Amino acid sequence: MIPYGRQNIEDDDIEAVVEVLRGDFITQGPTVERFEAALGDACGAHAVIVGNSATSMLHAAYLALDIGPGDLVWTTPITFVATANAAIMCGAEVGFVDVEPDTGCMSVDDLTERLAAADAVGRLPKLVVPVHFAGRVCDMAAIGALAQKYGFHVVEDAAHAIGADDDVGPVGACRHSDISVFSFHPVKIITTGEGGAASTQDPKLAARLKRLVSHGVTRDAALMQGESEGPWYYQQIELGFNYRMTDIQAALGLAQLKRMPAFIKRRRALAVRYQTLLGDLSLQCPVISDPDRSAWHLYVIRLSNDAPPRRQVFEALRARGIGVQVHYIPVHQQPFYQNLGFKIGDYPNAESFYAAAISLPMFPTLSDDDQMQVVDIVRDILTAG
Ligand SMILES: *Cc1c(COP(=O)(O)O)cnc(C)c1O
Repeated sequence: MIPYGRQNIEDDDIEAVVEVLRGDFITQGPTVERFEAALGDACGAHAVIVGNSATSMLHAAYLALDIGPGDLVWTTPITFVATANAAIMCGAEVGFVDVEPDTGCMSVDDLTERLAAADAVGRLPKLVVPVHFAGRVCDMAAIGALAQKYGFHVVEDAAHAIGADDDVGPVGACRHSDISVFSFHPVKIITTGEGGAASTQDPKLAARLKRLVSHGVTRDAALMQGESEGPWYYQQIELGFNYRMTDIQAALGLAQLKRMPAFIKRRRALAVRYQTLLGDLSLQCPVISDPDRSAWHLYVIRLSNDAPPRRQVFEALRARGIGVQVHYIPVHQQPFYQNLGFKIGDYPNAESFYAAAISLPMFPTLSDDDQMQVVDIVRDILTAG
């Protein structure tokens, strides 16, 4: 089976992990700090705080922006459930903005309309979370301008998009947002097994994120009530969590980060090849911008109306050894969100995107030959009718 995504682990990764295992600190040691600094350099952020998953870091990011009961958080339905769930974990209310029909990214037109309507009834979101779907960066300049106009915070769910660029430079520099969040799950661009990170340009947010991933505890005397009682002393000044990443994971992440430019280069080459090889079939390939700024976490084709039904194509691909997947079942269609009052039909672009989508194999070690095999099988299935 050729999977839709997989990690790329080489001897350097293994040696880096073993070195930490033989050393003094397997958690709360210097490798976490080295990984955070290297991530900050890679994405041009003042600070990066790592944690045990992107889900944890989304939760910490929303909390760092004081999201709580009574607040409204908007994201898009074409995402993994964690983006919305993190708002529920804060006790906030979730709302959705529809996606662009061709990219699956947040529609600035729909956002603009919904903000005007929300403003009229005095129910603006406190936070908007665009998702850089499949590694393609949302129109952050436009979203940032709306954030200025209406006064909401922005967190970029960049789980798919480390290594991608916005119109100026790397994602994670938070040019139009407060915080960006990355995932290091094995199918993502680089991996630490499980893991995530949050980047920011704001030193206060960075300090708060660091505290939230470690129990809300501080050793900074300036933040304490009363006097420090000695060198052992710490205070818990808010509710935090154990969302820490281990040094074992950070060592893997550091080794992976060195190869990230090569990973992205290969993913971009695979995307261009797919587009050339699939161009004549009853399907739509993802949009490739010029210049190509996407990290290409996923390669999502959408079947045309005259193609066989999606389920039939999906099952035929699986039966022939192509480990395709579907990204994503729109979050508002999940029973949990249906119980909160969302209805099928609420976000038509997201629903049609989902109905036609299939994620083809896309990972740096996918060979040209294997990619050609994927293409041949897709062609067979679509032209057999
Ligand atoms: C993978 C993913 C997450 C969650 O990441 P974890 O590291 O698995 O917690 C959140 N949002 C999106 C868009 C994702 O793809």
